[in-house]
Amino acid sequence: MGLDDNWIIEICKEGGSAFALKGRDKVFDEQTPYQRIEVFDTTTYGKLMLIDGFTMVSSRDNFLYHEMMSHPVLFTHAAPRRVAIIGGGDCGTLREVLKHPEVERAVQIDIDEGVTRAAEVHFPELCASNDDPRAELLFRDGIQWMQDAEPGSLDVIIVDSTDPIGPGEVLFTPAFYAACHRALDDGGMIVQQSESPLLHMPILERMYRNLKTAGFTDARTLFFPQPIYPTGWWSATIGAKSGLIDGFRAGDVASGAVQTDYYNEEIHRGAFAQPEFFRKARASWWQG
Ligand code: SAM
Repeated sequence: MGLDDNWIIEICKEGGSAFALKGRDKVFDEQTPYQRIEVFDTTTYGKLMLIDGFTMVSSRDNFLYHEMMSHPVLFTHAAPRRVAIIGGGDCGTLREVLKHPEVERAVQIDIDEGVTRAAEVHFPELCASNDDPRAELLFRDGIQWMQDAEPGSLDVIIVDSTDPIGPGEVLFTPAFYAACHRALDDGGMIVQQSESPLLHMPILERMYRNLKTAGFTDARTLFFPQPIYPTGWWSATIGAKSGLIDGFRAGDVASGAVQTDYYNEEIHRGAFAQPEFFRKARASWWQG
C-alpha cells in the first residue's frame, strides 16, 4: 500500500481486487502501539485515512457509513437514551448519534487515542460534537470496557470497528457479544459493521452464529454503498437482546429532527431489503 505515482492503492487480497484514489500528499503518518495511521490528501475524495493499510474514512463518502451505522438502529429502538460506541475513533458515528434528541449519554470507547487526535486535525467536521455535554470519549480496549459495564445500563451499542483482524478481532467473538448482551437493557440492540456481503459471507455467518450463542433473539443485516471499502457494497448487522427487530419510529424520521444527507425513511426500509442469496443464507445461519 502506498503513494505509487500519486495513486493511493488498497489491495484487497481476499477479493483479488484493489481500490485506488488519486492522491496529492501524505499529510500524516504515525505508528501507534496498536496500529499505523496514515492520512492522505486526495484530488477528489478530500482527506483519506488508512489504518494498517486499509481505507477507513474519506471526507467525501463517510456520511454514507456514519449515517447507516447510527440512524437505522436508533430509529428502530423505542427510546435510545444510553448509547455506547465501540471503536469509531474518527468520531463521525458519535456526531450522528448526538443528532438524536432522545440520546442522553453517548460514550465512545476506542482503543487508540491516535485515531481521534488525527481526526481532530484532518477531519474536524467529524469531531464537531466531541464537546457536546452528552458525549464522553474514552480510550480503552472495547471488550474490557464492555465486560466492566453495569448490567442493563445501555440501550444501543454501536460497534464501529476495524475488520476482524488485529485489535478489532476480539470485537467479533462470542465473549464480546456475551458482554454486550449483559450490558444491554431489555429492548436493547447492538449494531456492528459487518463487512461486504459480496466478499465476507463467512464473517457474517460467524457473526450470526456468535450473536445467537450469546443469547440475542433476532439479527438483521442492512446494506448500503461505501465506495472506499472493498466492493463498494457494505453492511451493518443488528442484534436484538429481546424480541424482534421490527420496530421503526418512521414519524420521528419524518419530523426532520435529525438532519441527514443519505438516510431517510425510504432508505431505512430499502436497506433492510434482503438480497435473495443473503435471505437464504441468513435463514440457514439463524435456524441452524
Ligand atoms: N469504518 C471503519 C471500518 O469499517 O473499517 C472503522 C472506522 S473506526 C476508525 C475503527 C476504529 O476501531 C479504529 O479507530 C480502531 O482504533 C478501533 N478499534 C479497533 N479495535 C478496537 C478495540 N478492540 N477496542 C476499541 N476500539 C477498537
